[in-house]
Amino acid sequence: MERSGEVSAIHYETGKPVRIKFRGGLIASVNEIPMSEELNDVFVAPGLIDNQINGYRGVDFSDPAAATGKIRMAVDAIRADGVTTFFPTVITGPHDKLVKVFRNLARALQEDEEVRTSVAGFHLEGPYISPETGYYGCHPFEFIRKPSWDEFMQYQDAAAGNIRQVTVCPGAEGAMDFIGRCVRQNIIVSIGHTNASADQIMEAADRGARLSTHLGNGCANLIDRHRNPIWPQLACDLLTPSIIADGHHLLPEEVRVFCKVKGPRNIILVSDVTHFIGMDPGNYVFLGSDIVLSADGLIKNPVLNCLAGASFPLRNGVGNVMKFTGYSMGEAIDLATRNVSAACRITDRGSLEPGKRADLIIFQMEDYRMSIKKVIVNGKDNSSGSKN
Ligand SMILES: [Zn+2]
Repeated sequence: MERSGEVSAIHYETGKPVRIKFRGGLIASVNEIPMSEELNDVFVAPGLIDNQINGYRGVDFSDPAAATGKIRMAVDAIRADGVTTFFPTVITGPHDKLVKVFRNLARALQEDEEVRTSVAGFHLEGPYISPETGYYGCHPFEFIRKPSWDEFMQYQDAAAGNIRQVTVCPGAEGAMDFIGRCVRQNIIVSIGHTNASADQIMEAADRGARLSTHLGNGCANLIDRHRNPIWPQLACDLLTPSIIADGHHLLPEEVRVFCKVKGPRNIILVSDVTHFIGMDPGNYVFLGSDIVLSADGLIKNPVLNCLAGASFPLRNGVGNVMKFTGYSMGEAIDLATRNVSAACRITDRGSLEPGKRADLIIFQMEDYRMSIKKVIVNGKDNSSGSKN
C-alpha cells in the first residue's frame, strides 16, 4: 500500500524502543520492541509544527512573485529541519501587496500537493497592531492600521479561505469587534505587537483570543514595571504564548519563567524564522530598512533598535528550552508538536498515536543539539534530514 512502512527508534517521550508502522499515510501501530545496538541514541518524535515562518533559505513567503517551485523548495528545506507542518506568516504591508501575497500562497497550495500537505494555514501578523514605537517592532510603520473586517475578508478571499490565524493588538480601535468576528469564523486570534492594557487583554481573551504571539517580543525595550502587556498575558490562563527560544529574542530566565507560569502544556515554540536562514552574515535590506545579519544569527534593525525575525530553525529552540528550563526532551518537543496541534486545532497530527498522520522525525540529541536523520511526511520518506 502506498505511503506505508515502518520505523524503529526510541520513543521521544517514554524513552523506550518502539516500532511504528504506518499505512496509507496514517500511524497504524506503536509497539515496544527490545533494545538493540543500532537503536542507541536514535529517537522518533512527531514532525515539528511551526506556527510562524516568514520565509526560508532565500524564499520570502511575503514576496508576491515567489513561484510555486520556489515555495516548494522552501517546504523541502523546512522539512529537512524537522518541521512537517507550518504556518507561512505574512506581516504588515500595503493592502494591494497583501492581496497579491495571499493569492500567490493560495496558488502554491493549489499547484503543489507537498506544499498543501505541510501548510496548515496562513498566519497574518498585522497590519492591525500597535503603532507605538517599540511595539510594532520591525513592521513597516506606514502600513499599520486599525482592524477592518471588510479588508480582512479581501485577504481571506485572496487566500482562498486559508488564513487560519491573525495576530492583532487588542488596544486598536475596533479590535474587540474584529476579534469576535474572527472567532466566529473559526480563525485563531493571537494577541501580539501590543501595548494593550490588562483590561483590554482580558476582554480579548473573553472574546476568544487564545494565543499570544512571541511573548516578550514585539514590545518596547523600556516598559512600566507594573503596567505592561506582558504581566496580563502571563496571568491569563486562557492564553497560550508562543516563544522564540533562539537565544537572542528571550533571555534564558525569561524562557524559564514563561514555562513555569504557563506549565509545560500551555506554551508553544515558534521559530519566527525569515528567509535569511542559511544566508551569509552581512548587510541586507528587509521590509524597506537596512538590517544586519550577524555571524551569531542575530538579525537586527539598528535604526529601530529591534530584532527583525530569527535565523534559526525550530529544532534549535527545542534544545534551548531543555537547556534553559531543565525540561525533559519529551516535554521540550511537546512545545513544538502536541501543544501546537492543540492550540492551533490541527487535530490529525502532533503525537505518536495510531490514527494520527504519519509525520515522523528520526533524530539524535547531543549536547542540546537536535540533528535530524530522517523525515517522514504523510507516510512518505521525504529527505535525509539536516546535517547538524
Ligand atoms: Zn512579530
